[in-house]
Amino acid sequence: MSGWRCAGLTFRYPESSRPAVLDLSLEIPAGTTTAVLGPNGSGKSTLLRLLLRILPPSAGTVEFGGTPVARWGRDALARAVGVVPQGEESVFPISVRELVGMGRYPHLGAWRREGDADRRAVEEAMRRCDVADLAARPVPTLSGGERQRARVARALAQQAPTLALDEPTASLDVAHEMAIFELLRDLGHAGKTVLLVTHNLNLAARYADRLVLLDGGRVAAEGTPREVLTRETVERVYGWPVEIVPHPGPGPDTGAPQVVPLAGEQCVRMAHGEGRSHAA
Ligand code: ADP
Ligand code: MG
Repeated sequence: MSGWRCAGLTFRYPESSRPAVLDLSLEIPAGTTTAVLGPNGSGKSTLLRLLLRILPPSAGTVEFGGTPVARWGRDALARAVGVVPQGEESVFPISVRELVGMGRYPHLGAWRREGDADRRAVEEAMRRCDVADLAARPVPTLSGGERQRARVARALAQQAPTLALDEPTASLDVAHEMAIFELLRDLGHAGKTVLLVTHNLNLAARYADRLVLLDGGRVAAEGTPREVLTRETVERVYGWPVEIVPHPGPGPDTGAPQVVPLAGEQCVRMAHGEGRSHAA
């Protein structure tokens, strides 16, 4: 099965004096949706690159599906995991249809000619990501959110059993962000393994089975949303006062922990170690 396991995983960029990921041991079980959280620069994207063998570990091991990732062929790994990298690679003046079609590359033969199954996969992915109407548009002319949806569609078109997405909803409006999280939930229910990096703690708490909270390249907390998103942990890792309230519902995620950041006034109190002024 297609989950990840890593042990003692460490990585230091050559230009940097301190490791971006440090002695990290983690299991991402197959068939689950896992969200990786953490402040800017805490090592989330680096962890993803290590899991996808884009970067070689400085120390430690990474296995995918029970096999060390170093032993996975690039093509085999590309067929097994659909990836949405953070930010954008250079934006070629291709159309949305062509970008999403690139998700089929690992499946195409030497001539890169699409068959019926490829075309169906592309159309389905564009529909689910709400970019079908944009199919003919050159990617550079899209808004940030439209481009992001097209990139998710490209990963979806691959129809891989596992998806790894680095901040897939960055710059999306609330409806499109919800649509992507609901889509990921549907894919999870259909048995896919989903690994996503996100800054949206509240949607992660509602839609992910497991959370991994990174801090300075280490795991600060991992487990269910209730286990990870406690006031103490969130305040310590992010350095900002918060209240945790249960999601009011309705819906299957009623009661999920939701993080409410408090005003800066309370932040000053927290910095001075004083008690909190408001009633819980
Ligand atoms: P996150 O995705 O959580 O914001 P990253 O994994 O991108 O964090 O970065 C972790 C740390 O590694 C940061 O301190 C960042 O500055 C550093 N880093 C990231 N990419 C590089 C790079 N190419 N060269 C040197 N340092 C890097
Ligand atoms: Mg990142």
